[in-house]
Amino acid sequence: MKNLLLTLLIPQLFGCAIAKNPIQQELSISPGEIRFVEFEETSDKIRFYCKDQEIKLNRVGKKLQAVVIESYFSELKPFTCFLKEKDQNLQELFFQVVDREYKSEQLRVNPKRIKLSAKDQKRANAEQVILNKIYASSLNSFQFDKAFIKPMDSFITSIYGTRRVYNKVKKGQHLGTDFRAAIGEKVPATNSGKVVLAADLFFTGWTVIIDHGMDIFSVYGHLSKTLVKEGDMIERGQIVALSGNTGRTSGPHLHWGVKVQGQYIDGLVLIDESQKIFKE
Ligand SMILES: [Zn+2]
Repeated sequence: MKNLLLTLLIPQLFGCAIAKNPIQQELSISPGEIRFVEFEETSDKIRFYCKDQEIKLNRVGKKLQAVVIESYFSELKPFTCFLKEKDQNLQELFFQVVDREYKSEQLRVNPKRIKLSAKDQKRANAEQVILNKIYASSLNSFQFDKAFIKPMDSFITSIYGTRRVYNKVKKGQHLGTDFRAAIGEKVPATNSGKVVLAADLFFTGWTVIIDHGMDIFSVYGHLSKTLVKEGDMIERGQIVALSGNTGRTSGPHLHWGVKVQGQYIDGLVLIDESQKIFKE
């Protein structure tokens, strides 16, 4: 008993002089999902890696926060994330990737927005270049300290991840959440951040994009009117636009997308997961 107590005490007495075993955690995630993770900051040399990529850490007081995502197009392979101080692993997070069933739906839209003319294709390509630039230059700390909220409280007409067949030919996935909305309904921001786009795009029509920092963006599409401009810092719940029917739609609604680390993820999961970290 005495020996056991000593074994437990010695590493603490000598603090960092003895390499400790990393703290291990088992977690799970599904394709198209996000998790928030939080650690204590014990040194300014701490870094975080998932799938061989460094993930930025948000520093708030003595806390370190980060997000882990799994792509919708996941190969369902388990992976490990490491919290490291130089070469030493402080924590190891083992993620199981659990498959998730996504539904299928048929849609009718203007054929011109399925088979693009050369002019439309050129426009869509040019817009993609602008969007790529926006998504590659996120602010480097969380621009929020509260949980995310729904951009509308209405019925959800199409959930994230639904496989879609447009006009019986074109196949795709719906990587956003559609809310029932008439033309002209108020659209509040899902969280605080910086407006990085307020423009008319080929596919999503009038669109607002908000940068919430550290590669987390929210997108509001098919709007009839935008009420903010690029560069505006906005609060959670602030009205940023009015809903509409612009771009590639089959009727008025609000399309809400969430892009994190370059992948569209399920916004409703973002809301749930953020509530676990940002308690109110
Ligand atoms: Zn949509």
